[in-house]
Amino acid sequence: MKTVKQLLHEKGHKVTTTSPDASVFDAMQLMAANNIGALLVMKGDRMVGILTERDFSRKSYLLDKPVKDMLVKEIMTRQVVYVGLDNTNEDCMSLITEMRVRHLPVIDEGKVIGLLSIGDMVKDAISEHQFVIKQLERYIYDTPEI
Ligand code: AMP
Repeated sequence: MKTVKQLLHEKGHKVTTTSPDASVFDAMQLMAANNIGALLVMKGDRMVGILTERDFSRKSYLLDKPVKDMLVKEIMTRQVVYVGLDNTNEDCMSLITEMRVRHLPVIDEGKVIGLLSIGDMVKDAISEHQFVIKQLERYIYDTPEI
């Protein structure tokens, strides 16, 4: 399987972010506009949390106030699990399964340089399987009759 470095090389380094004091309404609009399910919450260069659509669906109703009055910091997750460039896709898939999350920020030398979603990881895993299947099909085709 590929390394995180290879996955990011293919996917790109774009990370969509918000701030802890942004409104949840604006953050959800940003997710919708970019067709994504997570935003990293940044204070300047520093990652201070992650906000995903699940935070909205699971926590926002508990606040019992209008979405436009809710702040990102009220529903974001503060302890963020991340990976580095040398981790493999297998590491990532183990982590997301173990931690029950679908997004992993990539940190290099203390800086956020990317974000991998479960979709990016599964895409790579499937392409690897397809490669193996193609190899096997060729092997069967090439086998001479006996
Ligand atoms: P997700 O499955 O990624 O939509 O996230 C489910 C829950 O886990 C939400 O509360 C997220 O804020 C949280 N979460 C998502 N990714 C991470 C991560 N890498 N580290 C910690 N929490 C996360």
